[in-house]
Amino acid sequence: MEHLIGNEALMRRVLATVRSGKMPHSFLICGPEGSGKKTLARLLCAALECRSEEPPCGVCEQCRKVLSGIHPDVITVDDPEKKTVSVGMARDARDDLYIRPNEGARKIYIFPRAQDMNPAAQNALLKVMEEPPEYGVFLLLTDRAERLLPTVRSRCVELQMSPVPYEAAMQWLREKKSGISEETLAAAYRRSGGFLGQAEKLLEKAAASDAQAEAMLLAYASGDRFGLLQALWKLENYKPDDHRRDNLRAALLQAQSLLGDALTAKTGMPAMAETAQKLSDARSAADLLQAYRDVQEMLSAMESNVNLGHICGCLAARLR
Ligand SMILES: [Zn+2]
Repeated sequence: MEHLIGNEALMRRVLATVRSGKMPHSFLICGPEGSGKKTLARLLCAALECRSEEPPCGVCEQCRKVLSGIHPDVITVDDPEKKTVSVGMARDARDDLYIRPNEGARKIYIFPRAQDMNPAAQNALLKVMEEPPEYGVFLLLTDRAERLLPTVRSRCVELQMSPVPYEAAMQWLREKKSGISEETLAAAYRRSGGFLGQAEKLLEKAAASDAQAEAMLLAYASGDRFGLLQALWKLENYKPDDHRRDNLRAALLQAQSLLGDALTAKTGMPAMAETAQKLSDARSAADLLQAYRDVQEMLSAMESNVNLGHICGCLAARLR
């Protein structure tokens, strides 16, 4: 069964509450992106639906359905396509709650980004949070608890996710990302503030290398004009030419990510990628920021269909 890395005390507290049978009906799970809120929520749902003596067992039918995301009584209230969680969605959840669970002991509503519920949506839930049917549970997940109405917060038991301690985090990262140097893993840990989901994203970004972006930036780092022009020429004349625009966009996005990495390294944080470290060593923060903005501007220009020769020419002139 998947388990939560770090936050053991929190997990024990939650499970003790579930096993005591005196379960609150609403939880607010708070923590930054990548801090394990969703994992905690899934495990809590499994514990609530599990039929074994020591829930969650991870093997019974209820647990398996919850953990694979197909339990009919564990309902996620969100539409990733939309900017906010609308009042309509909140009302639908509220009304649905009065239909008894399908097969579970509980009917659970997960709000993965509760901070994106506007006040009307939050208000739609108030009454039902106050007096839900005995099988009803709300799990509100948020990275900005202050955006929730005090009346909503006061009806929830708050669970705060904490950073994962260094050793536990490193062990997990080593297993998950084999073949990456200790230094890079440690850099990702520090940069993430101890939140593993973020560390993982940083490592994925750093692994996505783009030879053309690197060539361009290494030339920029060492002040090699000829190398820079050559790299840009290659981008401008990339073959096959029907992929030229996509190829340039990918290279610019990667260049931007490396420049961002180099800028962060200027603040004393370790760089994630070697190229970023070289950039950071060779160039001033002001230079890096300017280059970052230049690349950003070229990316916007690409959106408005400016021709590629012009974009590469502009970069050649600006990256000095
Ligand atoms: Zn179970």
